Amino acid sequence: MTDHAEIAGSATAQRVTRVGEPSQETAGPHDPPDHPVRDHPVRDHRASESTVGGPAVAMTSVGSSAQRVAVIGSGVSGLVAAHLLRDVTDVTLYEADDRLGGHAHTHQVVDPDGTELSIDTGFIVHNDRAYPILTRLFAELGVRRYATEMSMSIVDAESGVSYVGGRGLGGVFAQPHRSVDPRFLSMLLEIKRFHICARRELAAGHAGSEVAGRSLARFLDELDFSARFRRQFMIPLVSCVWSSGGDRALDYPARYLFEFLDNHGMLSVGGSPQWYTVEGGSGRYVGLIAAKIDTIRTSTPVRSIVRAHDHVDVVDASGHTDTFDRVVVATHPDQALAMLADATPRERDVLSSIEYSDNEVVLHTDSSLLPRSRRARGAWNLEVGTEGAPRVTYWMNRLQGLRGTRDYLVSLNSADRVDPSTVIAQMNYSHPLYSTRSVAAQRQLDSLATDRFVLAGAYHGWGFHEDGARSGVAAATRFGAQW
Ligand SMILES: Cc1cc2nc3c(=O)[nH]c(=O)nc-3n(C[C@H](O)[C@H](O)[C@H](O)COP(=O)(O)OP(=O)(O)OC[C@H]3O[C@@H](n4cnc5c(N)ncnc54)[C@H](O)[C@@H]3O)c2cc1C
Repeated sequence: MTDHAEIAGSATAQRVTRVGEPSQETAGPHDPPDHPVRDHPVRDHRASESTVGGPAVAMTSVGSSAQRVAVIGSGVSGLVAAHLLRDVTDVTLYEADDRLGGHAHTHQVVDPDGTELSIDTGFIVHNDRAYPILTRLFAELGVRRYATEMSMSIVDAESGVSYVGGRGLGGVFAQPHRSVDPRFLSMLLEIKRFHICARRELAAGHAGSEVAGRSLARFLDELDFSARFRRQFMIPLVSCVWSSGGDRALDYPARYLFEFLDNHGMLSVGGSPQWYTVEGGSGRYVGLIAAKIDTIRTSTPVRSIVRAHDHVDVVDASGHTDTFDRVVVATHPDQALAMLADATPRERDVLSSIEYSDNEVVLHTDSSLLPRSRRARGAWNLEVGTEGAPRVTYWMNRLQGLRGTRDYLVSLNSADRVDPSTVIAQMNYSHPLYSTRSVAAQRQLDSLATDRFVLAGAYHGWGFHEDGARSGVAAATRFGAQW
């Protein structure tokens, strides 16, 4: 933990949970300052950087010292925008929460054997193929990462089927008798057929046509995929990745989904890229970016934004108004709309068309939420056929390669099943839901930007960290940064 402290050089109160003891707040020189809390300007880092050279961003003509930009929201989208803009303009970062990072959320936990663990409950994994911006950012920041496993276990209580994708044949046949179960074998053949059909759909290139807007449900109907395939493979996959319930999973526009799956090597057996997780947790990069931002205002929700022809007024929840030249709104779309006091009908239409699903998220040590057989456990574990929001449990020991004497688990929408005495932390995270309507609205987002106002957020893409980072780069370059 000492190396955390060296990064930002200040001891900030952090929540450190000692498992097996009641939760407690501790502060000390070795607590990791991943999420600095400040409410005033901290430094003019640009002056000091000019003496050492090598800023990550080139100066442009926009970079007059008189220019001020507000970035609202400190998830990956806002952080990346602020990080790139800080060398061309003065940046003020607003965050409603008392910590920075949004879904980049690391918990410091001490195992009963004394091992200190940094456990991520939001952004956890990435790969080189589908995350080029994040990979470059981490390299530039000097963030270390290590290889990890991505596997997905599916348990269908109704049929008794249980298997793991991403762990070779041992995972597929976690129940050895399934190797002679014709219904299971036929479902496996359908997975292969699905990969072929989805790749063919992509190769056909239906962009802009009616076929491009076809839902996953219609695609599966037209090609006669079975109910078993939907229940035991297709719905779990989409539910797991986007935390969406069964019905909503089938609303996903087929082609848009296939582009994502293809990009992540999920349209072939064994095509998966190597996955990585951040050493010390994703809060590590949050701290590195935050340490160089001019002004950070945590616990400061923005209530409204009023756009004039030559400036933007930002009003926070206490009623305080500050005036900026430009603003990046890097929250979720409903939150962005709520703060636009002067929203146009078009902005209302586009932003209200992109829905999010709410997920209760619990970090805990109750192993009963994992499949009983160890062979049937994956890094992600989904229970099939439950009503409403999907019940998924991430096995963090596998997903982040954690040591320690306990199973550390992150469960979504399963709080009612977790033994309360094992709970370490509870959060609520929301994730974009995709439909033909939301994807059509997403295509309009860029056209809402002006010279003074731009939106950012993972909802500009597939809802993942790379999408957030990409939208942050786009927002910053619109306001003059180069990368
Ligand atoms: C359980 C879970 C696991 C995930 N795991 C991964 C993963 O492993 N890999 C991956 O690539 N993606 C993962 N994701 C997706 C993840 O959500 C995105 O990667 C990304 O972090 C979202 O970033 P964002 O900037 O769009 O939003 P957020 O991270 O949600 O940031 C928005 C910020 O805006 C702030 N805010 C809101 N309103 C206001 C206001 N009025 N004033 C000021 N601030 C405000 C919020 O407090 C928040 O901090 C996961 C998502 C979930 C739910």
